[in-house]
Amino acid sequence: MSQLLPRSDLIAQLQQAKDWDLAIIGGGATGLGVALDAAARGLGVVLVESHDFSQGTSSRATKLAHGGVRYLAQGNVGLVREALHERSALLANAPHVAQRLPFVMPGYHWWERGFYGVGLKAYDLLAGRQGLGSTELLSTRRTLELLPGAKPDGLWGGVRYWDGQFDDARYCVLLARTAAARGALLLNHMEATGLLREAGQVRGLRVRDKETGVDRELRARCVVNATGVWVDEVRQMDRDAGAPQPRPMVAPSQGVHLIVDRKFLPGSHAMLVPKTEDGRVMFAVPWMGKTILGTTDTPREDLAREPTAFSQDVGFILHEAGRYLAKAPQRSDVRSVWVGLRPLVKPVGEDAANTKTLSREHTVLISASGLVTVTGGKWTTYRSMAEDVLQQAMERGLVPKRPGGVTVRLPLLGAAPGRPLGEPAGEHLYGSEAELLRSLPGAGNWLWRDPESGQGSLSEAMVRFAVRYEMARDVEDVLARRSRLLFLDAAESARQAPAVGAILAEELGPGFDAAASTASFVALAELYATLP
Ligand SMILES: Cc1cc2nc3c(=O)[nH]c(=O)nc-3n(C[C@H](O)[C@H](O)[C@H](O)COP(=O)(O)OP(=O)(O)OC[C@H]3O[C@@H](n4cnc5c(N)ncnc54)[C@H](O)[C@@H]3O)c2cc1C
Repeated sequence: MSQLLPRSDLIAQLQQAKDWDLAIIGGGATGLGVALDAAARGLGVVLVESHDFSQGTSSRATKLAHGGVRYLAQGNVGLVREALHERSALLANAPHVAQRLPFVMPGYHWWERGFYGVGLKAYDLLAGRQGLGSTELLSTRRTLELLPGAKPDGLWGGVRYWDGQFDDARYCVLLARTAAARGALLLNHMEATGLLREAGQVRGLRVRDKETGVDRELRARCVVNATGVWVDEVRQMDRDAGAPQPRPMVAPSQGVHLIVDRKFLPGSHAMLVPKTEDGRVMFAVPWMGKTILGTTDTPREDLAREPTAFSQDVGFILHEAGRYLAKAPQRSDVRSVWVGLRPLVKPVGEDAANTKTLSREHTVLISASGLVTVTGGKWTTYRSMAEDVLQQAMERGLVPKRPGGVTVRLPLLGAAPGRPLGEPAGEHLYGSEAELLRSLPGAGNWLWRDPESGQGSLSEAMVRFAVRYEMARDVEDVLARRSRLLFLDAAESARQAPAVGAILAEELGPGFDAAASTASFVALAELYATLP
């Protein structure tokens, strides 16, 4: 049920002296997945996120719910089978923000169509009844019909197969809200600054409200560290003074995406190039009225909150796009560039420079003091990762035992038949909550319309909805993650920032500094609008 979530009420709940069953650090897909699963099993759950839900890696994915065709090529059948099962759950539970998507793999060598066709038939077989559509071999003419943006020169037909696509940031907010509807307490802009330890055992968290600077302590039977690439920072908190630092378990790898207009990839199909010049995978994907190009996989030492693209990554994406698309996008065509850090798990003694050999599977590690750390994996597998975390925490006696499997079919708030995610954003992304959205002031006041279709994509009411129901606290929360305008067109998002700031000021009252929030967002948008 749609629930108003004013921060003052959430903070009041936080102040109640209480022993939680589970305190989770990190509001990305992983932490939110654990929160929902635990809340659905009736456990007492609190989650803190230092920035906004999905502000870390989980809003910066390629947005594919997929088994991972390339992992199949690497022979990792177990990972692919699990991910295909999870793909089905992810789509079924929130069809308003997650839909199936057809892909065409064009062949530019005579052998490619047959070779990849066999591999993709195996993908279908692994998916079994959870398949989203049958793989088909395509003639050259049919390939160009389905993928009119593909370069015709040297084309030897193609293969069509099916995967899933979603809005990663909205999915995270829906996980948070659905967990809240089941009794969990979730707070964004609330940082975990330390762990409470008694007799060598973790017994809770120290948290700081980033809005007020107020520090608080939360007591919990079990603490889960789901901080993505930042898990090692939290693991550092889990030791006695003078004790050696734990060995880092994450080797971050940076992935860059570029957004260009739909004219570079017209139609409803995505393109997958399985092997670029240097052996990488490359996607061109229709998403919310634009085209996502990406991605890259480059080791990175630092853990910046806003990592910036390397110029060679941008060069690589544009060069490869130019090899496969009839109309080659230029630097000036890029509307937004965004970068995410993959939390790859480092096997002991492994060379951190070679990220392709690092594990794409997740790891759950329980320290001697009972801190449960979970990282790695994929967005697609967030739900099974959560089950694994709870299973292991129960086996160690850290949380009360409750039967699992409760989230396989657990519709998220607003779940209703949706539209392909390639279409421009609009009210349809609110599913069954669209009626509630339309009842708010400013429903017909469109701040931004998709320029090609004219469809209203951001309304005054959506900004109000973001504050009242989706825990948005500043201009960035609204324009980066409730609406995805920052990711779709950074310059346009900067133009909308003052209007959004003014609506937020009405909603949040005098404590909200609209000028500062707008200025900080405009600076961020500049980063997304600028190529290295
Ligand atoms: C470029 C790229 C493309 C990808 N594409 C896909 C894809 O198409 N499909 C797919 O399945 N997977 C994809 N992935 C993988 C997927 O995005 C990640 O596996 C997933 O998002 C990781 O989620 P997480 O919750 O573990 O981490 P995060 O989303 O980073 O969440 C961790 C959270 O912890 C918070 N945090 C950190 N420290 C603290 C603290 N002290 N207190 C409170 N909070 C804290 C952070 O702010 C952050 O929000 C992609 C990854 C990348 C980088």
